[in-house]
Amino acid sequence: ANAGEPAIPTDLPLRNDLIGEEPYGAPQLDVPVCLNVNENPYAPKADVVESIAQRIREAARSVNRYPDREHEALRQAFCDYLKAESDARLQPAQVWGANGSNEIMLQLFMAFGGPGRTALAPAPTYSMYPEYARDTFTAWQTVPRNDDFTVNVVDTIQAMHELQPAMVVLTSPNNPTGTPLPIEDLKQILEASQSATVAGAQPGTHPIVVVDEAYIEFRDPGTPSATTLVNDYHNLAVSRTMSKAFAFAGSRVGYVAADKGIIDCMRIVRMPYHLSAITQAAALAAFDHTDEQLAEVNHLRQTREQTAQWLTTQTYKGKALQVMPSQSNFILFGGHLAERELIFEQMLERGVLIRVVGPEGWLRVCMGTDEEMAQFRAALTASLRAAE
Ligand code: PMP
Repeated sequence: ANAGEPAIPTDLPLRNDLIGEEPYGAPQLDVPVCLNVNENPYAPKADVVESIAQRIREAARSVNRYPDREHEALRQAFCDYLKAESDARLQPAQVWGANGSNEIMLQLFMAFGGPGRTALAPAPTYSMYPEYARDTFTAWQTVPRNDDFTVNVVDTIQAMHELQPAMVVLTSPNNPTGTPLPIEDLKQILEASQSATVAGAQPGTHPIVVVDEAYIEFRDPGTPSATTLVNDYHNLAVSRTMSKAFAFAGSRVGYVAADKGIIDCMRIVRMPYHLSAITQAAALAAFDHTDEQLAEVNHLRQTREQTAQWLTTQTYKGKALQVMPSQSNFILFGGHLAERELIFEQMLERGVLIRVVGPEGWLRVCMGTDEEMAQFRAALTASLRAAE
């Protein structure tokens, strides 16, 4: 069990495969500088807060009724956003929302995974994926990324043919490495998927290709999003979230862009009324203020570039830190931090919470406000010295 949590009583019939498992989640600590869960550090402006409150007040008048199960107004808002943000031309039938992209992913695994099915991903990647696989009895297989953490397209396609997964999960930019997946690489995998077969499925079935674009708004402007390919590939599902760039993590809203066929499969496994009237109202209000919600994205991109540059000037045991090029709002750094737990603890003592994640020897930090980043830099320099 997690520190301070009582152990689960052994006389409860917890599923055999869950015995000894722990709830997923980064520590939620009351610390001055939280740079550990890749949030947008800028809180909503007063007029956005007011709009959200107003919409929720209206929704409250009819909370005796169930919400719109198909969340049609919100699906239109997702389409409008994807058109404005990525120039993706989609109909409401091609988008679908849920409580965070975590729930989107779980719905995909519930619909397309399951006993006898496999999900494949280039690793290292987001550590929740194997948990969705576990929870849905889906086998989880990985194919190593290249040394620079880019996707090895040849190996991934080969693994797709050999392992016959029902789902190929790609993350762009990847968490925790920040690495983008070039659209040409994605197209190659999508083309190969058209002739791949799926173990445990009807003959003639091809895998779905899931692209998790949780952090895509932080990419270099002008880089295409996978959402622009949804009209071309009926087996492509692109997951998105309002949690990161859109600065809306507390409201729990994620969505997917995909062919209507994929969404109809997801609708089979969703809970009825999974998106509350309150959530829908809040999200619609936030979309009325899209520009304000995204106002700091460019600044966070600059912060990332400055922080990456600064990190390369830092040393540990006499050797410069490695810094992975990132298209996200976080940076994976180090590479040779043998005492990464100790460095993490030293940072925490100085009031700065970062994340121990990714391959051994690396740490991850997400971009905060200018003041927070100044505290991060001071704390890291001191912590590296203290941990040497
Ligand atoms: N995908 C990736 C790659 C993530 O890093 C995260 C958040 N850590 C999520 C999905 C889930 O985010 P949310 O459920 O808030 O949309």
